[in-house]
Formats: sequence, C-alpha cells, structure tokens
Amino acid sequence: MNYYEESLKLHEKNIGKIEVVSKFEIRSREDLSLAYTPGVAEPCRKIHENEENVYKYTSKGNLVAVVTDGTAVLGLGDIGPKAGLPVMEGKAILFKEFAGVDAFPICLDTKNVDEIVQAVKLIAPGFGGINLEDIGAPRCFEVEEKLKKELDIPVFHDDQHGTAIVVLAGIINALKVVNKKIEEIKVVVNGAGAAGTAISKLLLASGVKKLIACDKVGILYRGIENVDDAKKELAKVTNPENIKGTLADALVGADVFIGVSAPGIVNQDMVRSMNRDSILFAMANPTPEIMPDEAKAAGAKVIGTGRSDFPNQVNNVLAFPGIFRGALDVRAKEINEEMKLAAAYAIASMVKEEDLNEDNVIPYALDRTVAANVADAIKKAARETGVARI
Ligand code: NAP
Ligand code: MG
Repeated sequence: MNYYEESLKLHEKNIGKIEVVSKFEIRSREDLSLAYTPGVAEPCRKIHENEENVYKYTSKGNLVAVVTDGTAVLGLGDIGPKAGLPVMEGKAILFKEFAGVDAFPICLDTKNVDEIVQAVKLIAPGFGGINLEDIGAPRCFEVEEKLKKELDIPVFHDDQHGTAIVVLAGIINALKVVNKKIEEIKVVVNGAGAAGTAISKLLLASGVKKLIACDKVGILYRGIENVDDAKKELAKVTNPENIKGTLADALVGADVFIGVSAPGIVNQDMVRSMNRDSILFAMANPTPEIMPDEAKAAGAKVIGTGRSDFPNQVNNVLAFPGIFRGALDVRAKEINEEMKLAAAYAIASMVKEEDLNEDNVIPYALDRTVAANVADAIKKAARETGVARI
C-alpha cells in the first residue's frame, strides 16, 4: 500500500480526523434550556463559588491540549503550525482511542518561547493537562520548564519524556535478556536533542551510572564550547570520566547504544567494538542509525527501532495515553520523575517473563491493555509523591 497516497485520500474524505461530540441530547426547547441558557447558569455559579467544581461540571478534567508551534513535526522539521495540524489531530485520536482522553490540537503561530508560554497559560483554565508536541530543541526545554512552574496541571513534552519512558521500558527488559544490571552498564546516547536529553536524564534517574552523550560534535564533556546551553548542561551530568572524542570512541566497551540522531551513522565496526551482548536502540526515523540486520551481523543482541516493520518498536503510544489517563484521574499537579519511572516499569512489565526474548522487549504498540496498566502506575506514583489531588 502507498501510505502517503491512501492517507491523503482518507484525510480529504473525512475533512480531518476529529470532531466534537455532544454528551447531551438537544431535541426539545427544554433540552436547550438545560444544556444552555438558562440552566447552564447554575453550574457556572457553582464553579464561581468554588473553582474546584470545574472538574465536576465541565469536561476540563478529561481534556488535554496538544500544543505545538510546528517547528519539529515528525521528521519533517519546521513546517509551521498549519502543516503540523494533521499530526496533532492524529495525537488527539490516539489519546481518545487508547485511554478515553479527549484531546484538542492547539497550533500556535509563534516560535517565541515567552509567547508560547503565555498562550498556553491563558488557555489552561479549559484543560486538565498540556501535552507539548513537536516543539524544536532547545526551545522545548525552556517552554516546558516555564510552563511547569506557572501551571498546576500536568505539562508533558511527549517527544522528550514519552520517548524516554518507552526507551527505559525497553532497556529494563533488554537487560533481563542479556543478564546485565542497570547500575553496571555503560550507555552511549547519540543525538542530544529533545529525545536524547530526556532519555539520558531518565536513564540516570533509573540507576545508570556511566552514560556518555554524543552529538554532531562528538562526545559532550564539561567545558565544551561549540554547543548550546542545554547540551552544556547535559555534559555536566553525564560522562563521569569527562572523556573527549568521537561517537566511535564512546562506543568502545559500551553495553547500550541509543540513537536519536541521524540515519546510518553507526557502522558494524562500531558495533563490534561494543561489549558482548550489546543492546542498540537505533531510532532515527524513518532510517535508523544502523539497520537491525547489520547490527545483528556485527554481534548486537537486542535491537530496537522506531519502526513498525522491525521487532522492538519504540512507539510513544505505549506511554502518553496511559500517563495522561492516570494523571487526569487523580488530578495530578504535575508528571514528575517518579511517575515517569513508574510508567516505564509498568510498560516493561507488560511483556510476560515467558514471552521475553531479544525480539520482544517492548509490548506491541496496539496492545490496548498497556494504557490501563500505565495509568494505574501513574496514579500510585502520583499519590506516593504527594502530587495527586484526589
Ligand atoms: P532533535 O531535538 O532535533 O534532536 C536531534 C539531535 O541529534 C540534535 O541534537 C542534533 O544536533 C543531533 N544530530 C543530528 N545529526 C547528528 C549526527 N550525525 N550525529 C550526532 N548527532 C546528530 O530531534 P528529536 O526529537 O530528539 O529526534 C531525533 C531523532 O530521533 C529523529 O530522527 C526522530 O524521528 C527520532 N525519534 C524517534 C522516536 C521513536 O522512534 N519513538 C522518538 C523520538 C525521536 P543539532 O542540534 O546540532 O542539529
Ligand atoms: Mg512528536
């Protein structure tokens, strides 16, 4: 099938992918008076008396804004807020399909960090959570950080944390397959952008001790000059021995390679230089850093990609629907590190011990049971860390 042509036809036929559906029947004048004026004044008054009632009488508590500036859309790059809309509509239907979360695309016509923050702040009263989407690095870090400070509803940049959570889930299971401990492995993350930065931080939070981040310039180290501030910050918390060099240098003796960078930049010699039973998540889309068959031929044990046509697909749909389901259900004030770790372990646990092998470390993206399990883990972690309001 030609997915591009067929998808285009479907989008045209349906004129987009989402619509708003009423929960009320409007057949009579009485119905109208209940759904709208004069009856609607009563829930308005109740909310005016006590703002928490907004969760009782409106859709806010189940509604997520999918916010983009259109600057890092899929692998298409900075294509603008209108061209990003089909992706945001797609995200909205995945939220609904996998977790019953209503989501609405908000495509902002600005690339200015403070304007994005201000816009989201101003629309926040109507939403239970904010999913930032396809906002380019390094601005995405600042946007998220500022919004998390300003808002008391969850703010979650999926390209960062959704990816990091699914990668960690895959690593947890892959380590069981190769019988290695997370505290003992050496990890190399290539591509210190949105995904790579979040993956690095989550892996460190999960117990990884030795992690080296690389970028176009090679290994990031303390004192590095020709990179942006976000990368300098990452260099401060990674690379414990503060070594310098290329990606190839970093990979010598590594147990895990995580690629969120560019196609074809890892060769078989680099894989051969890694430790025995190496694990590679080569996730540049659509063409990975190294093709799975090449990596395997060079001795890699577990290989994951972003693609559905190879085993071990890292698909964010395993994470974000359940994460927001859980966060909304307990009216969490935020999605913190503990909740992200809990989500990763919940996803990992969905691959049963007896089904676990090198080609099956990540649950199937369409497994509908994952989201509920993730939601439960998120609720528990939110309660334990004191960010759940109910
Ligand atoms: P991003 O924010 O643009 O980050 C990409 C990073 O990789 C940047 O820091 C970039 O450096 C660096 N880079 C580019 N070419 C490189 C090279 N040859 N060697 C080393 N570093 C290089 O993008 P992102 O959102 O993190 O995504 C990165 C890639 O991962 C994309 O291909 C994306 O599709 C993929 N991805 C896959 C999944 C998934 O499969 N589930 C999820 C997330 C991301 P500069 O800043 O200098 O350009
Ligand atoms: Mg995205």
